[in-house]
Amino acid sequence: MAIVLQWPWMGIAIPCFLIGGIGYPAHFFIFKDRFSVQKQVIYQLCLTMIWISYYLACTVLPGSPPKGYKSELTKGRKVWKRYCKKCESDKPERAHHCKTCRTCVLKMDHHCPWTMNCVGYKNMPHFLRFLFWVIITTGITFFELGKDLVQYYKDRNLPSYLISKSKMALVIVLSLMNLVVLFSIIVLFLREVYHIVFTGRTQIEGWECERIESQFYSERFWRRIKKNYKKVHGKKLPELTTWKNAEKVHYEMDYLQEDADQLDESQRNILSSPRNPKTISDHQSIVPETFTYDDLVFPYDLSVYDNLVETLGPVYTWLLPWGGPRSDGLKFKRSDDAEDQLDLPWPPDGEDSYEPGDYELTKTYDDPQEEESHSGAVSTNVTEEVNDNDNYIDSDNDSVSSKVSDLFKGGKYFDNRLNLERTEWMNDFGENLEDFGVDIDTERTTHLRNRSQTRKTEN
Ligand SMILES: [Zn+2]
Ligand SMILES: [Zn+2]
Repeated sequence: MAIVLQWPWMGIAIPCFLIGGIGYPAHFFIFKDRFSVQKQVIYQLCLTMIWISYYLACTVLPGSPPKGYKSELTKGRKVWKRYCKKCESDKPERAHHCKTCRTCVLKMDHHCPWTMNCVGYKNMPHFLRFLFWVIITTGITFFELGKDLVQYYKDRNLPSYLISKSKMALVIVLSLMNLVVLFSIIVLFLREVYHIVFTGRTQIEGWECERIESQFYSERFWRRIKKNYKKVHGKKLPELTTWKNAEKVHYEMDYLQEDADQLDESQRNILSSPRNPKTISDHQSIVPETFTYDDLVFPYDLSVYDNLVETLGPVYTWLLPWGGPRSDGLKFKRSDDAEDQLDLPWPPDGEDSYEPGDYELTKTYDDPQEEESHSGAVSTNVTEEVNDNDNYIDSDNDSVSSKVSDLFKGGKYFDNRLNLERTEWMNDFGENLEDFGVDIDTERTTHLRNRSQTRKTEN
């Protein structure tokens, strides 16, 4: 769960207290006598690097889209049109509106209460360098204080007047404080670096992937995929196949059979999925049977090295206090993954915030003439598809699904977050989008849907 501080300035005061309160007493009261001048300089240099990177992490802004920014659809680039009503401009890909900073943040990772700043495109390197220097410094401190603790243990049988009690108390207190900082920062750093290096994701995108994985076998998810596929590619979703060549996904759900027999027709429809193919077999599910979550392609995951360069800039600047990525943070490199069968903007079940009539085709064509000949036909399809109420799970169905979820509470395979809206879903740590600092209000598109429904009624 994310940390919310009652007094925001405590977010700055606590780290400052810890950096100064551990580093300087440890140096001047404990390490000074045993460190050579060279070692003392190195230790002070590490401490200074913490202060510099922390100052930069707090003060360098992550970057926001220019005022009135409009999503640019260039060749081969598929992005959802996401309008931010608070900034009155489009959100660039990977950007979100931060509820604390009150602006859209480029490649938003999370809002950090400990820097009172958003971590995003332009200041992510400062944030990572801050964590890095804290780990190095607290690592050295841990090692050196550990030597003292071992010595105290060895000397435990000596007469007590030979041991300075105040120094021993200081060593113990500093060791405990240092250990807490070292441990928590290592966890944070590893989580951050793992996302960046091995998945190319921000923390928010990591959360998004967890949501998609958890909702992958829902009819609702695939209804949206079908709708989006038609919107972007102008044709029906083809049969999808898994690269794993896996057999149909079967799960032992027979124990649900008895309960399922008691359901009415609409409840059965909600439950039917490849996870329980035998259980409720009279309904044709739209969830593909040979396509798994692993077959989805996250478009911004490049190679390990490229992921790092995209985030930190050129390798020779990684440890320089001013190093950072060189682009504008409005567009991002994508993997050319031939395995991407959906080839949709991210997230694949996302929605445009534009009303159906305003929609501009995201598909781009190599030949402008071809584009001309396609655009008319496709936009007709788009209108048809969007007007089709079947694409949206209506409130009645939602209440049915909650009944179903009640019915199978405690069931081994039933995830009762299956049909939650993106803005409501939470991961296994109980984190929803808001816990990363995102302004949920600007992520909702249902108001537009309601508006178009109202219009329809008026007609
Ligand atoms: Zn905004
Ligand atoms: Zn923020």
